[in-house]
Amino acid sequence: MKKEYLLTPGPTPVPPQAREVMAREIIHHRTSGYRKIFQQVSELLKLVFKTKNDILTFTSSGTGAMEAAVVNLLSPGDKAIVVRGGKFGERFEEICRAYNITAINIDVEWGKAVNPDLIAGALDSDKQISAVFTTLCETSTGVVNDIQAIGSIARKYKAILVVDAISGLCADNLQTDEWGVDIAIAASQKGLMTPPGLAFISVSPKARERIEKSRLPRYYFDFKKAKKALEKFDSPFTPAISLMLALKEALELIKAEGIDNVLARHKRLSRAVKAAIKSLGLQMLAPDAPANTVTAVKVPEGIDGLQLVKIIREKYGVTIAGGQGKLKGKIIRIAHLGYMAEFDLIIGISALEMALAELGYKVKLGSGLAAAEEIFSTPGKE
Ligand code: PMP
Repeated sequence: MKKEYLLTPGPTPVPPQAREVMAREIIHHRTSGYRKIFQQVSELLKLVFKTKNDILTFTSSGTGAMEAAVVNLLSPGDKAIVVRGGKFGERFEEICRAYNITAINIDVEWGKAVNPDLIAGALDSDKQISAVFTTLCETSTGVVNDIQAIGSIARKYKAILVVDAISGLCADNLQTDEWGVDIAIAASQKGLMTPPGLAFISVSPKARERIEKSRLPRYYFDFKKAKKALEKFDSPFTPAISLMLALKEALELIKAEGIDNVLARHKRLSRAVKAAIKSLGLQMLAPDAPANTVTAVKVPEGIDGLQLVKIIREKYGVTIAGGQGKLKGKIIRIAHLGYMAEFDLIIGISALEMALAELGYKVKLGSGLAAAEEIFSTPGKE
């Protein structure tokens, strides 16, 4: 027998309360019972996003919401800044290209955060730029971008600030309203502790005005249709009812813990993993702007990164993520995201130590664990 542990930056483990409601008999969505659930979910999401704005819910993975943001905000011939510091930043550029939007790319070395001054410079040099697309946590590199600084720049221009918070929400702080984020995007299978299949978009008043004028083609992902239905806690099409029931349970857990305590827990888990990595003599990919969502670790010289991930999964039952795109085989990524606590990471660190030892890396077994335990057992250590 092998027990399985999921330590990836999405999907993430789902708490039992959320799993159980999905096994119930299905209910119909055009009923007061479902509307009540949708209303509660919509309100609870606002606490998590730290916003008073409407949050639209779509049945799709996160990428659907990224595409939805492009088609609902922009018009043919528009130009948009795209921060490309990893695979998910690049995705925004690919979506823009698919719709003939001119992307003004700000290329950031993978493992570094974007310098907000570069965004200010690009906005200054062309006042016609319609949007800025960036990422809270760039999951492919373990970087967190300074959205507060970017927001204070973007609010001085006509450009709409779109933040992909798909992995970062709940783990890396996002103050949607206070920081001037016009569109924040999230998905169910990350910090929201729900299976994949739901995507969320908060829409500021500035973004709402733009949506009125935008002319790219759209049908299913139409913010105006979604907003009109939301006014009656209805949805234009059949919603993913069971996922919504699960999400409500997960959000109730977040509310009970308190969003700031949830953020603090992620920070503590992240600090412990990073301390373990250091004590194992490994290097982080993103030491200057480390996310609390996921830790990206460089695979040491002479070790096969793919093999490392494989041993951790196949021998010890712990699924972590490898590198994506140009980082394939070069990094491993350990998530501390969602329904996770101290001992999930103790298990992950332990599996990492044993797999490293098996591959011939000089490691003192237990040294990473000791560093993590030091943080977990010392109040205020984080
Ligand atoms: N952006 C970020 C930052 C992500 O982490 C992910 C998923 N790993 C996506 C976008 C894409 O989301 P999905 O796979 O749900 O379409």
